[in-house]
Amino acid sequence: MLLLDTFRGGVHISDFNPDISDAFAPERGQYISSRILLKYLNHSKDSREKKLILTSVDLATPVLSYIFGEAQLNGHLAIVSSFRLHEELYSGEPNRDLYEQRLQKEVLHELGHNFGLLHCKDWECVMHSSSIIEEVDLRGGYYCKKCRSAIRHHLC
Ligand SMILES: [Zn+2]
Ligand SMILES: [Zn+2]
Repeated sequence: MLLLDTFRGGVHISDFNPDISDAFAPERGQYISSRILLKYLNHSKDSREKKLILTSVDLATPVLSYIFGEAQLNGHLAIVSSFRLHEELYSGEPNRDLYEQRLQKEVLHELGHNFGLLHCKDWECVMHSSSIIEEVDLRGGYYCKKCRSAIRHHLC
């Protein structure tokens, strides 16, 4: 898996079932991601640990009609939703490879924010901003040289 390659095996995947019911906004039928982040903010014992919640529910913010994910800048917690990454939603045809690519890009992107990265101007870089699925597909699946060295700096 790309994620494991990128972080040299320093990744632990666990079955974490957060109770996100209080983040649900019934008038929108979506979950407000910042409420979830706020709730689990102090869940890490190790201050160097980054935790990413992967969810299948549709996420939004009070001002954005949907988001693929959100992360604390220079923090410990991120969240990614797979809800809008399924190709069925756009073309009606499932595409497992494309879905996995999108998911990996979103995970790397939000983790990048945890490592202090801002949006990158380089379209080849996974830290390029994306608010629609076409932009997710257009951007590359890896950190550019500049972003990679910033992460390394953050880890020192
Ligand atoms: Zn971002
Ligand atoms: Zn970059």
